[in-house]
Order: sequence, then C-alpha cells, then structure tokens
Amino acid sequence: MSEKVCIGCGIELQSENPNKNGYIPQEKLKESTGHYCQRCFKIKNYGQYIPVKMTRDDYRKEVQSEMKNAKLAIAVFDIIDFEGSFDVEILDVLREMDSIVVINKLDLIPDQKHPSEVANWVKGRLEEEGIAPLDIAIVSSKNGYGINGIFKKIKYFYPNGVEALVLGVTNVGKSSIVNRLLGVKTVTVSKYPGTTLKSVKKQIPHTNITLVDTPGLIPEGRFSDLVCEKCNLKMVPANEISRKTFKVDKNRVLVIGQLLWFKVLNDDGVKPIFSLYAAKDVMFHETNADKLKELLDTQRGDILYPPCDECRDKYNSLEKVTHRLTIKTGQELVFKGLGWISVKRGPLEIELVCPKEAGISIRSAFI
Ligand code: GDP
Repeated sequence: MSEKVCIGCGIELQSENPNKNGYIPQEKLKESTGHYCQRCFKIKNYGQYIPVKMTRDDYRKEVQSEMKNAKLAIAVFDIIDFEGSFDVEILDVLREMDSIVVINKLDLIPDQKHPSEVANWVKGRLEEEGIAPLDIAIVSSKNGYGINGIFKKIKYFYPNGVEALVLGVTNVGKSSIVNRLLGVKTVTVSKYPGTTLKSVKKQIPHTNITLVDTPGLIPEGRFSDLVCEKCNLKMVPANEISRKTFKVDKNRVLVIGQLLWFKVLNDDGVKPIFSLYAAKDVMFHETNADKLKELLDTQRGDILYPPCDECRDKYNSLEKVTHRLTIKTGQELVFKGLGWISVKRGPLEIELVCPKEAGISIRSAFI
C-alpha cells in the first residue's frame, strides 16, 4: 500500500488496480510529490468524468472521524439551490459544532438582492432547524466576493488558529471556496458531482488555520441527480439563471423540460401570475391539458429538454406521483436541483406530476 495521497481528491494512491479509485501508474508514483490520481488527472486536464458513489454511511463515518480534531465547521450551501443543498447530514453536524455558514453563488442572484437580506433569510431557515451559527458569510467563489470575509471571521473566532471542517453537498462550490481560501488551485474543481473522495487537509499559508475539505455528499431529491451527467451539468446554472413570467388560464399546462409538468386548476376567473426560474438550458413549454399527452409522446428534445436522448428512457421509467398544491402570493414552489416558481398573483392551484423521488417544497418568497 502506498502512503501517498492524491492532491486533488485526497484518496490514497495505488498502482495495483486501474479500475479502483486512487489509481496512478507506477512510474508516475515514483516521481517525487504532487500526485493526482488518474481520475482527478482526467477531470483536470480533459474535463472527463469518472463517477464514484459515496454512501451516506461512508460519508457519516468520514465526517465523524474528522470531527474528533476539528473545532469549527464551515458549511457551504448554494443560494440558487438552497433546498437541494440543505441536507440533513450536514445540519446534524451543525447542531453539534460551532459553525460558520457560507452561502455561495451570490453572483447568480439578481443585483437588487442585498447580501444582508440573503443572510437574514438564511438565518431564519437555520433557526427553524435549531441551528445558530457563529456567523453567516454570503460569497461568490466565482468572483471572489466575500471570501476574505470568511477568513476574517475564522481569525476573529479563533485567533490562535483552528482545524475547520468544510462541509457541503456536491456542486455547491465547496472545492472552489477551499481553493480561494488557500489562494492556490489544487483541490479538484469540477462541474461534476462527487469529485472529492476523502477529506483533504490543507493549511492556509502563513496561518494556523487548517481546512479539512470533506467529500461532497450527493443529497436526496435533486432533479439534477436523476438525469445523466451531461444533463446534470446543464441544470447547474453557471453564469445566469433564466426567468420567465406566465399569466395562465385554467387547464393550461406548463412542462419543464420533460422533467415535470403541472396543470393550472384555478377556477375563479382571476389568472394567476408566476415566474419560473431555472438554468438557461432548461426549456419551458406551455400547452393545453388536452394536448399534453400528445406533446409528451413526441419526446422532442428540442422543446422538452432535459432529459436528453440518452437518459430520457431511464428518466421516463421513474415512478411518477401527482401532487395537488396551492401556492399563495409571496410563496415559492421549489424543485430541488432544478429551480423554482415564484407566485406574484395567487393563489396558484396546480396538479403537478413528477418522479416520486424528486424533492419539492413550498417556502416564503426569496427572490
Ligand atoms: P463542490 O462539488 O461543492 O466541491 O463544487 P465545485 O467547487 O466543484 O463547483 C461546482 C460547480 O459550481 C462548478 O461548475 C463551479 O464552477 C460552480 N461554482 C462554484 N462556485 C460558484 C460561484 O460562486 N458562482 C457560480 N456561478 N458558479 C460557481
């Protein structure tokens, strides 16, 4: 067994089995330091994705063993997919340890939303869960906004240094934040989920602060995890989120990709108005209830994307459920790992069809 670890994902390196995690050719391993396993090397240099699965049990074990030494948790959530990133496993850790909560991807929300409003909203959500963090930082690891603030907060609470556990589900930008804090680009950042396999310890240069980058957990209920990796990528907004506003009559149906659809049931003559938010590659289509079946049967990828041709059959075979929902003015209906609708004039009464395992919830308006 080798004692060397991959500087990208933290896995122990081995040259015995190319099909197992941590593989590196023997001749590369002989070179002095700074090794990437073959998987991280491919992600880094060719953007190639090699999936790995980490179970919740493995995750819990890994985090619990790191909690023995760490005094502080830095938990990262995605402002664009807050519900998708608000995982019970991470909330459990926050109930046990001092924490700084980091809300990432501020660059993706409209300018008029002030970071302090975001912080107050998050504070409320954490309070509902019985969590009171030491502080909340609103950041964008993409443009660097607020990163220095995280550093200052750690130094303020731990002037003599600390080992801090960095936690978050996949795709929230955890590795990007760690890299920003370290000021170097070593931890593998990928648009693909599940890139970091083992905890990676790194000291912030010239400080006594050690960051323990834990593996990203794949949470339950994200629409983006029910499609193939290619579609998953398209569903994680990178540069902007698209918004479209609808004013609809009874019996009109909105189809989002071919991921979910809902029929408007309002019967009182007042048309509900709502806006739909998602990554710009996700298509929205409006039709009449009596044309829905025909439309879905066409399986036209040019108007019903995602899923793509490759993962459509698998997605369509997932067991579907029908929800009857009422969303009031000022409320939002959230589709985990996909987007949300914000009701401007309600109530909006709908009958929604989506896979059983997809997560939906109603919250008070955020944007
Ligand atoms: P991890 O799985 O949580 O470690 O996430 P990564 O750091 O690998 O990032 C996941 C994806 O989100 C990548 O495509 C990043 O470029 C993107 N990303 C990370 N931080 C930000 C951010 O602040 N803004 C935007 N727009 N994208 C981000």
